[in-house]
Amino acid sequence: MFETLSGKLSGVFDGLAKRGALSEADVTEAMREVRLAMLDADVALPVVKDFVNKVRERAVGHEVLDSISPGQAVAKIVNDALIDALGGAGAVPLNLNAVPPVPILMVGLQGSGKTTTSGKIARRLAQRERKKVLLASLDTQRPAAQLQLAQLAERAGVASLPIIAGQTPVEIAQRAMEVGRREGYDIVILDTAGRLSIDEALMDEVRAIRAETSPAETLLVVDAMTGQDAVNTAKAFNEAVGVTGVVMTRMDGDARGGAALSMRAITGAPIKLTGSGEKLDALEEFHPERVAGRILGLGDIAGLVEKAADTLDHEESEKLALKMMQGKFDLDDYAAQIRQINKMGSISGILGMLPGMGKLKDALGDKELDTSVLTRHQAIISSMTRAERRQPSIIKASRKKRIAAGSGTTVQEINRLLKQYDAMASMMKRFSKLGVKGLMRQGLS
Ligand code: GDP
Repeated sequence: MFETLSGKLSGVFDGLAKRGALSEADVTEAMREVRLAMLDADVALPVVKDFVNKVRERAVGHEVLDSISPGQAVAKIVNDALIDALGGAGAVPLNLNAVPPVPILMVGLQGSGKTTTSGKIARRLAQRERKKVLLASLDTQRPAAQLQLAQLAERAGVASLPIIAGQTPVEIAQRAMEVGRREGYDIVILDTAGRLSIDEALMDEVRAIRAETSPAETLLVVDAMTGQDAVNTAKAFNEAVGVTGVVMTRMDGDARGGAALSMRAITGAPIKLTGSGEKLDALEEFHPERVAGRILGLGDIAGLVEKAADTLDHEESEKLALKMMQGKFDLDDYAAQIRQINKMGSISGILGMLPGMGKLKDALGDKELDTSVLTRHQAIISSMTRAERRQPSIIKASRKKRIAAGSGTTVQEINRLLKQYDAMASMMKRFSKLGVKGLMRQGLS
């Protein structure tokens, strides 16, 4: 996400950084480019104007122009302004402070990802916060909707409200809350019916359900890829029924990011969560400062660490780290490492979180990094005997031929893998000799 903007903005700042001293005209020219970049990214015009004015004012009014590295000073101002536009520092958490069962009302247009997001939120609350969650579909419009939610609940490992045909959405909501109270649920997620466009009947239905259940959160789900339509939808929903937060889905497919940047200013509603894929774990908190960092190519290390902590197997990681520190690292460990990398998901998604890697990602375009080599390495390693994996130095010509045949690869590929392994192993030996302190010294020098 934000690739378009990120690429252009980093171009502007690279240009400024090269200048050394900056004149007011340089700033004006840079701001013209920033404005074009934002419009290109589909950010709403009033938001762009406000943004550029704020940055220009701060850049010209302060000692920026005389500072030692004015380019950096301007980048800092832009970073701060981006954080403001995105809603201010820090994620806005879900408000679950109410007497349980706490109702969460999900609203949005059809196809926005509302049902999927309901499942993702249910899973997250159940797994991370150990909440007992009940999912209920109030969608009586689409015959299959209630069934879809029941299946999703099963995948998310939470309960769903048994389906009773013929009930109205308000009746289902009542029943969900009753079951919630009776069976001691912490959270009841109410997934309402979507519509193709906003109409009064939909708004009336949402109002009636809200009056019945007094939800702690009314979350609007919008599709980031619809750009300004998502913002207009949010504005209309907020004016008609009032929303407490926005969940923006399909961030994985949205290279422009205009909707995310315009949402807060135009609607006043904070983006609380974002969806970045179809899988149930593809749900993230929205941290404006991290998103700003990604836009400016500063990376999102905090996000990366969180993602790693979420997906990686701690025991396995620690075992690996220990072996590395001891200078023991065999092909089984290498295979374990590949498994961990694969678990983190798309490599280009990870790259986007690393500082300076945004540009590399641009160079790749829409292509994914070629990770097939890792898969082939896995196949090769699994065709080896235990002794070979433990002590790769015994793998000579005849063993190589056998392994190549077994894994459907070639002897050359096996040679490449062994060479790479040797390089890794000798690096780890060096690390282990240095010890932790030595490593830190190396990192600092
Ligand atoms: P609803 O009509 O609003 O309930 O939409 P659904 O939850 O049925 O989602 C519609 C489609 O969008 C499904 O195929 C989902 O898998 C997909 N989807 C939902 N959220 C995301 C997301 O964050 N990223 C991507 N790529 N697809 C999503």
